[in-house]
Amino acid sequence: MVAESMVPIPFPALLEIVFSEYRQHQSIFGIPEHAFCQPVSARPEETSHTYGLFSELVSAPLGPAIGPHTHLTQSIVCAYLCGGRVIELKTVQKLDQLELQKPCVDAADIGYNTEWSTELTSAQATAEYFKAWLLLHLLRGLLWNEWGQEPDFLFLMSVGYDLEGIQGATVDAFLEDMRDAGRSAVFAELVDELVTFLEAQPELGFFPGGSLNNSLSDSPENSPAAPSGPDPRLDWREFVQGIRHDICRSVALSTMHGCPPDEIEAICTYLLTEKRFDTLVKLNPTLLGQQDVDQILSDAGYSIDLDSHSFEVDLRYSDAVQLLGRLQSTAAAVGRGFGLKLSNTLPVHNTDYRLPGETMYLSGRALYLLTTELAARLCQDLHTSYGVVPLVSYSGGAHAANIVELLETGIGPVTISTDLLKPGGYLRLAEALRAVEDRHFPDRPDPEALRSLADSAKQQPAYRARGGEPTARVHRPLPLFDCFVAPCREACPIGQDVPGYIRLLGEGRPAEALSLILATNAFPGLTGAICDQRCARACTRIEYDRAVQIRAEKELVVRAARHTGLGMIPSRRPAMGSAENGAPVAVLTAGLAGVSAAYYLVRAGIPAVIFESSSRIGERIEGQLAKYRLTGNELTEDLTRVAASGVKFRLARERYPDAADLVEEGFAEVVLSGPDPELLRSFDLRLHPDGTPKVESETRRTPNGIYLGGDGESDPPRIIEVIASGKRIAAAILAARRAGSTVAPEADAGHSSGGRFTGGRFTGGRHTAQQGPKPDPLQVLQKHGRFAAPGRGSDGDVARAEFQRCLECNVICLKCVQVCPNRANIAIRMQASDGFTDAFQIVHMDSWCNDCGNCAVFCPYDGKPYREKFTLFADRTAFEASNTPGICIDHGQVLLRGGEAQANTDGGGVTNREAKRVATLVERIQNDYSYLLRAFGGGMDE
Ligand code: SF4
Ligand code: SF4
Ligand code: SF4
Repeated sequence: MVAESMVPIPFPALLEIVFSEYRQHQSIFGIPEHAFCQPVSARPEETSHTYGLFSELVSAPLGPAIGPHTHLTQSIVCAYLCGGRVIELKTVQKLDQLELQKPCVDAADIGYNTEWSTELTSAQATAEYFKAWLLLHLLRGLLWNEWGQEPDFLFLMSVGYDLEGIQGATVDAFLEDMRDAGRSAVFAELVDELVTFLEAQPELGFFPGGSLNNSLSDSPENSPAAPSGPDPRLDWREFVQGIRHDICRSVALSTMHGCPPDEIEAICTYLLTEKRFDTLVKLNPTLLGQQDVDQILSDAGYSIDLDSHSFEVDLRYSDAVQLLGRLQSTAAAVGRGFGLKLSNTLPVHNTDYRLPGETMYLSGRALYLLTTELAARLCQDLHTSYGVVPLVSYSGGAHAANIVELLETGIGPVTISTDLLKPGGYLRLAEALRAVEDRHFPDRPDPEALRSLADSAKQQPAYRARGGEPTARVHRPLPLFDCFVAPCREACPIGQDVPGYIRLLGEGRPAEALSLILATNAFPGLTGAICDQRCARACTRIEYDRAVQIRAEKELVVRAARHTGLGMIPSRRPAMGSAENGAPVAVLTAGLAGVSAAYYLVRAGIPAVIFESSSRIGERIEGQLAKYRLTGNELTEDLTRVAASGVKFRLARERYPDAADLVEEGFAEVVLSGPDPELLRSFDLRLHPDGTPKVESETRRTPNGIYLGGDGESDPPRIIEVIASGKRIAAAILAARRAGSTVAPEADAGHSSGGRFTGGRFTGGRHTAQQGPKPDPLQVLQKHGRFAAPGRGSDGDVARAEFQRCLECNVICLKCVQVCPNRANIAIRMQASDGFTDAFQIVHMDSWCNDCGNCAVFCPYDGKPYREKFTLFADRTAFEASNTPGICIDHGQVLLRGGEAQANTDGGGVTNREAKRVATLVERIQNDYSYLLRAFGGGMDE
């Protein structure tokens, strides 16, 4: 249960959050300062770089598209900070109190949504756009010392959906308010609130442009940023009142699917001639016709159930060309600008029901194929028929990697939505800005260039359907705290510390990287050569571009260690004492599983002896792996390391010992490497009717107490599974001995009692744990939101590139923070003394959330951050309607939930760990994020 609907933040609270967060944490709504972007073309001396849309000039031809990133002030602020300069406001229509089914966004892969216009009332939406307009002017000055009153950004409003509605009082008031905010009492009130707030600030020197002294020390004639009039910081009222009142000079018409051609023409004519706005008309990809849409999507491997009805009722292509030709003439006749907005989303049948309802709207990569095709056709046909190609504002699967080629065809501006809903969020806009800034683009579409763009897109793998699970998953409940996790490591059957060794290698420390791999993997050489890489299929990087080259990285580690003469460093030999004093384990046959089990046991301090009939250690495994055609020395090196670790081999056995022999020799447990029929008989194992042995899958223990490895379960063996079976056996033996107190309690084969590897750390006896590196979380954060092609070239180049590409998800996740368009999930920075593992903890802002569900799509756990993370509630009603742990300040009274229920369950009245951590988190919020509490009209100190 959450707040009934998302609630806009009152302007004074919003200002308080922006100023306090920036002063205390050098971020604004979670966008770190290092990601703030002021396009270089904003510099007045480079006006040739400035980009135009009708009569307005902006400093970059990109921004957030109409959608979830432009309905709240904080969203628009984030888009602006990340370089968005064309801000397409969310559509306002006469029905301004929509009840939408939730969740409504699924951007896991190609992107679907069910939400089409603002969920705010028209009055709320207008106020949000006013607040954003004022705040962007102010931030431009404070952050970049750009105090000029002519903005370097523009707001493009959007209205829908029929003429009657657009002419009605609600939409008309919106149009007129956005044309002239000076007529609005709400705007005047917001201006007063802003002036009052600014005048109450004791000093603003913490902003780069906030210090008057700094500014005045510049030479005005040499400083393009110097204010032209009186410095606004001397008179805030003069500055704020001087901000332009004509917020929108142009409008985009959103038409509902099924809107007849004459209705579209009538609305555009009305907007151009009577309202006298420069006008864009947003067209649907259904214009291509069902057959062609179906063909394009299925050629790219998509299996999408199209909605035939929308093709039947939507505008037809032949009508569209004539209609657009007439509208261009109408616009020219009245001296207004006219253009196309391509394209709307595509309605499709909901077949997987991840979203509610029968219909959903497709966007993202698949829409790119349709929209580029539509742009190419329309521009060619309009050029042929009328000799004029209109302005085409583009939206549909755009992102940092394709924005340059889009703009080079002369279409633009380009706006982005689905891409910003993926990990990295608004930071992806900054990537797009970096790609385009300082470049010149044609200002009218070139039909031939568009045709070639559309055709080449159809050949590119980036726009084809992907198989498999779309996002990295961890099949466990979402913890309240310390949730950061590396999906690669979770997916790895032996739980290798992938980000750890990638970092060590990237930092030029291959011996340490190898040592870290050896802590959890007996066969680094083998797995670097032939592992089937489940880790890479789970890699978060896929949500940006391509998976980190994890197996290749392991191969590089082994190679680099070998070349530096460190390749044969022995695994850590167990010291005598503790677990070493336990009885030895007998392992029968030197198959992959048996060697693996022995290796893990020895590393945990339990002696292990392998009996093998062949006379060479690797002979049996070579037979197992014959189908892989290994060519190098990987196996030999791996086995040499295993032997060096302390595993004992008794080779060339003419007869394998039976149970009695082993008992007599003092062996405590027996491991069979695989289901060898002779050995199964010899140890009297029970069999299923199909002849396979009965074995408990997690512990690999048979009913008569023998442990059975996974050799022989597939042909060729999935080697990582077989190695993992050896690891599970070692963990089960350790657990059993621990229960019988024959092993020191801290001995650990990296296996939790719940059956999952907990990180593969071996901490037995006096051995020191082989820990991964401990990176600085703030440095890791700088890698997030960046696109990067897989590393190529020399080993060193690849190692460095892949290290930069690895997001170190176990150090920083924050996907729920990044993908939330509303910024309703907040990363709270913890201090080392707070007792948490992760550097940040997630706190959810209940009233900023519209339940869109996108954070749950990307959270790797089986959980919903917006329903399960510690929550700040705006009022008592919302707090009491929820069960989620959280806090609310109600008229100075603190309502807190979280941990109290369990406070006494661990005996002796001792407050349990969770309750303590809730208290610590609340204290951290109170000390370092009190502006969040004050935003809700409360404060712990009140
Ligand atoms: S980005 Fe790095 S840590 Fe995250 S899943 Fe991929 S390899 Fe693992
Ligand atoms: S917190 Fe999650 S559900 Fe709520 S608005 Fe943000 S992404 Fe959507
Ligand atoms: S998405 Fe958010 S809640 Fe989920 S693991 Fe990442 S940081 Fe935690």
